[in-house]
Amino acid sequence: MTDFEILWGDVLSVVKSSTNEAIFQSFFSVVHPLLYKDNKFIIKVDSPLVADWIKQKYFSVIEKSLSKSLKTNVQLVIQCEGIQENILAPITKISKKKKKIHVTNLNSNFLFNNFIVGNSNQMAHAASYASGQNPGHAYNPLFIYGGVGLGKTHLMQAIGHAVIAKNKDLNVLYISSEKFLNQYIDALQTKSISKFREYYRSNVDILLVDDIQFLSKKERTQEEFFHTFNALHNEGKQIVMTSDKSPHELKGIESRLVNRFEWGMVVDIQSPDFETRVAIIHKKLEQYGQKFDEDICFYLANKVRNDVRKIEGAIIKLLGYASIQNEPVNLEMAKECLKDYVSSHTVTLDLIQKSVGEFFDLRITDLKSSRRPKSISYPRQLAMYLCRNMTNSSLTEIAQSFGGKDHTTVLYACRKIESQKSEDEIIRQQLLTLEKNIIGSVKMM
Ligand code: ADP
Ligand code: MG
Repeated sequence: MTDFEILWGDVLSVVKSSTNEAIFQSFFSVVHPLLYKDNKFIIKVDSPLVADWIKQKYFSVIEKSLSKSLKTNVQLVIQCEGIQENILAPITKISKKKKKIHVTNLNSNFLFNNFIVGNSNQMAHAASYASGQNPGHAYNPLFIYGGVGLGKTHLMQAIGHAVIAKNKDLNVLYISSEKFLNQYIDALQTKSISKFREYYRSNVDILLVDDIQFLSKKERTQEEFFHTFNALHNEGKQIVMTSDKSPHELKGIESRLVNRFEWGMVVDIQSPDFETRVAIIHKKLEQYGQKFDEDICFYLANKVRNDVRKIEGAIIKLLGYASIQNEPVNLEMAKECLKDYVSSHTVTLDLIQKSVGEFFDLRITDLKSSRRPKSISYPRQLAMYLCRNMTNSSLTEIAQSFGGKDHTTVLYACRKIESQKSEDEIIRQQLLTLEKNIIGSVKMM
């Protein structure tokens, strides 16, 4: 071990003693010490969320610990890949050389191999596959639209994976249009529009923009996106977009953009038919290393029809239920467990708040408060999201249980976490851990 690593190890033990194990594991696994030079200690953080978090909660603990060990005033610098680094850190010259961006924000499960093709998504799959094989040439732009949970994000990210698998030097950027909007607003506020433009226009080879309908009525962001689109398209860079509606059904989007959306290929995804649903259930079970009898798969496929995300939810719920009962899954159990879909009688709002509070070392009163620091608002949003997904409670009931808030606050939190989840592995992991903890504590009751 080098002195540098020993030094960082010391810092970690100080941080560890000031927080709980779960937080520590979850956050600090993506933090890497990079360099110590001119009294600056640079760490690299692989997640914007964690970078933010460290900045808010651990910055001074880390700086103090370093200063103490090195017996001098040390300045901590956080480097985070992507655009955030310019906002976060007092360092970082933007290198003129093209750099690797955001490859890691693709969900590793969203591969063509894991995607079941049926009548409902055949065209969308074929067009996506062709774009992945021949980016910038086959269909550009590719516009995929359809209802919630039907595999749009999955297909879009599969294109990204396929492109990287063929040429790892290409920069694939997956971004939700909400994030694009936020980055644009940040850039306006910090007067760094030219950096924002450079980032998108000279660094990106494949641009994947999810849920473009979100740009509706955001005129300035649309204008910015229009220019980004043109710049990339002119250079033959592949652009893929998803939306809940077809281009011409989109309201509040400028016609010149709608027109661009229709330049290449527009494909839709419909709800899967019964056979496709059964095949999806098989595939998911295979991924989880599980097997159900065929009657259970048929029951599930009949019970949950439209939304593939709900099919996954039902499988996970059933597996959790079986583990609580300590028995293999059978049809009766499936019927009981999915009777009202979510076991509201076992998982309660209180229980979720308690688990989230424990995980983040927060008091329940903080979670229920209206305090805004991210160290509180983010766990609160996660808790709201889990309440929505793990219980049958209505938005209003959930809002009430968080200190009498408005139901739109819960809705906003759920949308935000849903969109962040598709981009940030850390958030996915934290949700998984929290779900596990919650199910675990039901088991103990
Ligand atoms: P959307 O973006 O359309 O709302 P997602 O792409 O996020 O939906 O899909 C929701 C979930 O369903 C994901 O976990 C995805 O892997 C899964 N899924 C959707 N369609 C399929 C399919 N045809 N085969 C396998 N999994 C699918
Ligand atoms: Mg999506």
